[in-house]
Amino acid sequence: MTTAPPTIPSIDRLLRDAAIVCVLPVYGHAPVVAALRTAAAALRAQGLAGQDEHAVRTGLITRALAALTQSLAPSLIGVFNLTGTVLHTNLGRATLAERAVAAVCRVAAQPTNLEYHLGSGTRGDRDVHVEHWLTRLTGAEAATVVNNNAAAVMLVLNTFAHRREVLVSRGELVEIGGSFRIPDVMSVAGARLREVGTTNRTHLRDYAEALHARTGLILKIHPSNYRIEGFTAEVPAASLATLGRAQGVPLVVDLGSGTLLDLAPFGLPHEETVQETLAHGADLVTFSGDKLLGGPQAGLIVGRAPLIAALKKNAMTRALRVDKLTLAALEATLSLYADPMRARAHIPTLRLLTRPTAEIAALSARLLAPVANALRDLAEVSVMACASQIGSGALPVDLLPSAGLSLRPHPASGAVGQLAARLRGLPRPVLGRIHQGAVMLDLRCLEDEGAFLAQLNELAKPA
Ligand SMILES: *Cc1c(COP(=O)(O)O)cnc(C)c1O
Repeated sequence: MTTAPPTIPSIDRLLRDAAIVCVLPVYGHAPVVAALRTAAAALRAQGLAGQDEHAVRTGLITRALAALTQSLAPSLIGVFNLTGTVLHTNLGRATLAERAVAAVCRVAAQPTNLEYHLGSGTRGDRDVHVEHWLTRLTGAEAATVVNNNAAAVMLVLNTFAHRREVLVSRGELVEIGGSFRIPDVMSVAGARLREVGTTNRTHLRDYAEALHARTGLILKIHPSNYRIEGFTAEVPAASLATLGRAQGVPLVVDLGSGTLLDLAPFGLPHEETVQETLAHGADLVTFSGDKLLGGPQAGLIVGRAPLIAALKKNAMTRALRVDKLTLAALEATLSLYADPMRARAHIPTLRLLTRPTAEIAALSARLLAPVANALRDLAEVSVMACASQIGSGALPVDLLPSAGLSLRPHPASGAVGQLAARLRGLPRPVLGRIHQGAVMLDLRCLEDEGAFLAQLNELAKPA
């Protein structure tokens, strides 16, 4: 006797199945129907031979549920940054302090006084939420905030040098992160670049000779991700400020990273602070919110009040403005700088950059055994000394002594690229650096070691 081949249950019947009924409120009717239809079609194409009704039904439902889960999985997710680059642009640069995260959540879920003056009940200015912090912390007369530092530079150029000339030293005509090239930003902003000096040496007289009635700005740019060494000369901001002031031409300094804290006492190389640059006579200083400052993506502009007022009148600001989430995160981050010790302890970027090497080495030693155990079938694990870098163009040549784990694949378990891919495939992907046949995990930025270890068991399962 032969039994009739099983049939695929109707969508209506499947929609009454308990397993489907309970996910309907999560995914909605239409997506569930679509997932069931797709699963039914796949099953039909594959053939039902050798299965009974029950197997067909559960197979179909399992397949549909898996597709639904995947459809809601977020694309933008958290990762472990064990690359050794603390401010990694591709990994979203700075992570926010807890206080900043809380501030973002607070203003995200309710109406706010973003542009509303509560005292007078009239329209307000969104900059007020951060301007008082920026002036207090940097000594500037005024401040404004735009989307990022590239936008800040563009706005400054367009406001003061549209169809006018901008004097820039040839040694500072930099490209940062591939997409920010000073000459290109200049032309998009409608300013004319006037190169002065040579690549390695520029003198005050080079600027003085280039300055004339059509000069809109003198721009000094932090070279960020490279350094010219040897027979070099650059003109200090103070001399440029004096030269510009005599002719009524503002000096603008694009600091790039722009730190508010001198990190030298914590063992990092000295980087000129925003306060120092202003004290040297810069009329405006621009810097990023998510580099050394350790806040949200933003472009901060501080300096003389009439110049800031002119920037705010430019119609371009409407297209470059930041939203309430950014302002909330920035206000909270800046407030931590009121006490440098608290800034260092609570702002993750500063905490990680100043993390004692001995602490990172102790963490590496502690994790050696559990990591080696989780990876026993895949790789030989050992503790290594290594060097982290700050990233995002800050102090590019200076490396920070660090420690971590080196994962060298067993000869039989495949290439190092495969091991790196397995680590990237974890629920919270682990990103290291491949070096000489091993995956290197710099543990400087690992603070949540429990979460890191908890998911490593997944590696023991077959790929
Ligand atoms: C990083 C950097 C920029 C660009 O800043 P974003 O905030 O990434 O837009 C501009 N100038 C310098 C000198 C930089 O280092």
